[in-house]
Amino acid sequence: MSIVVKNLSFTYSKGSAFEKKALDDVSITVNDGDFLAIVGHTGSGKSTFLQHLNGLIKLTEGEIKVLDIDLNARRPDYKKLRFTVGMVFQYPEYQLFDETVAKDVGFGPRNMKLDAEEIDKRVKETISLVGLDYAEISEKSPFEISGGQKRRVAIAGVLAMKPKVLVLDEPTAGLDPLGKREIMKLVLKLKENTCPTVIMVTHDMDIVASYASRVAAFNKGKIVFDGKPYELFAKEDLKEYGLDVPAAVSIANDLRKAGFDVPVEAITPEAIADFSLSVSPEVLV
Ligand code: ADP
Repeated sequence: MSIVVKNLSFTYSKGSAFEKKALDDVSITVNDGDFLAIVGHTGSGKSTFLQHLNGLIKLTEGEIKVLDIDLNARRPDYKKLRFTVGMVFQYPEYQLFDETVAKDVGFGPRNMKLDAEEIDKRVKETISLVGLDYAEISEKSPFEISGGQKRRVAIAGVLAMKPKVLVLDEPTAGLDPLGKREIMKLVLKLKENTCPTVIMVTHDMDIVASYASRVAAFNKGKIVFDGKPYELFAKEDLKEYGLDVPAAVSIANDLRKAGFDVPVEAITPEAIADFSLSVSPEVLV
């Protein structure tokens, strides 16, 4: 089961003076179990692409099939699509609105018209899945908990719909390094336990290097690269696409200039440390 996108194009305000082509002939197949990072300049079409995947933007040109949901069908099942593709927006904590954490997390399941018992079960399960204590937090107002807790509650609200695919738009935006690591640990745990396919937009190349199994780079509405992170970071024209290399790749490049034969796959701090340990001490001095 996968997500198949073929020749997808999209133009905002078509036919008006403000017409803007945001996606231009995009084709990609996201496989079960992929951890796909999506990168590219602001305005390159990433968010327009994501919004097609859960039907927030209706398909107008091209083909999309998300698992068994065919968006080219005569009457696509957009409702099922919204529950199948769980979308965590940028700064999701700003979307909390209900009186209590439990009610907020239960919003999606209530919309799915599940019975009260099942809603209750899902709320309890997902609150603890995101690493929060149900007894302590469930009756609190979403506005009286910490920033990190808010973001977790917002993610729990998406998970409570039991999506099969998790889509995140910059989940680490605005967080300090520790907060980033915590959220990425949570995303990995969710990938292992609940949503095996993860699609994540990020500007953080260190995150791409450490977590993604695959990366797609958008530029001017097109996918200009699709492959493994180390292959992307080895490309000459990264800057053209508004991309940088992760810190570990800069170090690897410096080591190469100094004559060391660092493997091209070494793109994380851990891999560089392993390489350094493999070089005999006399050589490094
Ligand atoms: P990204 O997520 O990579 O920043 P977007 O998908 O948001 O890119 O935007 C792609 C292009 O579409 C940009 O030129 C942007 O200005 C334009 N765009 C995005 N949303 C709208 C909208 N609601 N109306 C008109 N143009 C839009």
